[in-house]
Amino acid sequence: MSPSTEDHARRPVIVVGGGPAGMTAALALRAFGRPVTVLESGAEDRPRPGSRAIFVHKATLEILDRLSPGLAADLDAHGLVWQTKRTFYGGREVFARTYPPPPPGTLAPFTSLPQVDTERILLRACRASGVEFAWNQEVTGVSSDADGVTLTTRAGARWAADYVIGADGSRSSVRKALGIEMEGDRSDGWYIVIDTEEDEANPLPTERIFHYAHPRVEGRNVLLVPFAGGWRVDLQLHDDDDPDELSQGEGLDTWLRAIMPASYAERVRWASTYQFLQMVAADYTDAHRRVLLVGEAAHLFAPFGARGLNSGVADADSAAAAIHLALSSTTAERARAAVEDFSISRRRAGLYNRDAAGTALAHLRPGPEERTRLEEAAAGAAEDESLGKWLDTAPYGPVASPPCNTIYKY
Ligand SMILES: Cc1cc2nc3c(=O)[nH]c(=O)nc-3n(C[C@H](O)[C@H](O)[C@H](O)COP(=O)(O)OP(=O)(O)OC[C@H]3O[C@@H](n4cnc5c(N)ncnc54)[C@H](O)[C@@H]3O)c2cc1C
Repeated sequence: MSPSTEDHARRPVIVVGGGPAGMTAALALRAFGRPVTVLESGAEDRPRPGSRAIFVHKATLEILDRLSPGLAADLDAHGLVWQTKRTFYGGREVFARTYPPPPPGTLAPFTSLPQVDTERILLRACRASGVEFAWNQEVTGVSSDADGVTLTTRAGARWAADYVIGADGSRSSVRKALGIEMEGDRSDGWYIVIDTEEDEANPLPTERIFHYAHPRVEGRNVLLVPFAGGWRVDLQLHDDDDPDELSQGEGLDTWLRAIMPASYAERVRWASTYQFLQMVAADYTDAHRRVLLVGEAAHLFAPFGARGLNSGVADADSAAAAIHLALSSTTAERARAAVEDFSISRRRAGLYNRDAAGTALAHLRPGPEERTRLEEAAAGAAEDESLGKWLDTAPYGPVASPPCNTIYKY
């Protein structure tokens, strides 16, 4: 569909944004038998930035498979499962664990693949389930009242719906139009995140490796994670580092060659600098309980623990269930309550995830006392495995899941 200034027929539900959260919401609505339209500002073949979310948790695979049977196996077939993880401190291994391969026919414990592939597979599932897509529809205006929502696009088209899901990412126009603030901070310190393509002639063991104080990069922390077709490398910069210098040209090449074979430094596909945002929307819905925010429209977390896309999928699942309940409700009060329950429970999960990612960030930027604790743990890890295990898991934050509202189990 091309941009237009026409008024479109009213829909029961419109999703704004065709990223992973928006497509999951659309799939979930189709699973309830509801018609759904996705308005996406970009073209179908729009370029997407880097490989971003690579780690898809088992809980996410379970949700997606419930919404579209076979989807988990499809994602799994395009991803990889690393079975070994290692943690080093100052170049010395302090923890290693190798897991057995997942038994055939069972769901993988996670899968690791570029986000572009996840999105391609989600789009295929959406199409197969009858989701309507309208591309090149940049939503700029949102107006809601007790009866529904009207959206306006930059090109002047008007779209009306009973309910809208705002899944339009970190700069969400939907959230801004509703006047909902983001609460939280930007983390201190810079990180460089790069993707490099697998050198098939010189493959590396598919192991997740974390280095505290890597001796070959002047004591910076480094995380290496394999995904299907490549490697994600996170470099944590020192306070006096210049992020621009180390994220391109000779600066990038020098540190990458110090930790990976030269052919990997020659295959960098994407490099970016980050100061991570740790923010959650003040409310996940509007005053009339007609617009529901999901994914990065509602929250931004540091990536440690892989909570961004994964929690966006859970938000989207809950939002669709709330709208299904609201549309089936016989009173306006019950319809409002369904949306309010969604907002409260998913905001609570957002706050939990923000704090959990914050715990990981604090661990990675220790003060003097915490640094002593890390050094003591590294020194004792050979005798006491629990110390090595702590060093291995702490960079990702708490392992428990956020609290969730059970009324949406179906
Ligand atoms: C380096 C990095 C690593 C990451 N690693 C992980 C990881 O391993 N695991 C994980 O779970 N998460 C990870 N994340 C986070 C993950 O990438 C995001 O959480 C995820 O993309 C958010 O999905 P979304 O659908 O909410 O938003 P987006 O992916 O941003 O999608 C939003 C969509 O809305 C469209 N849009 C925007 N504005 C409008 C508008 N006005 N009108 C209509 N459409 C609009 C956009 O074009 C886009 O298609 C990582 C992020 C980064 C940057």
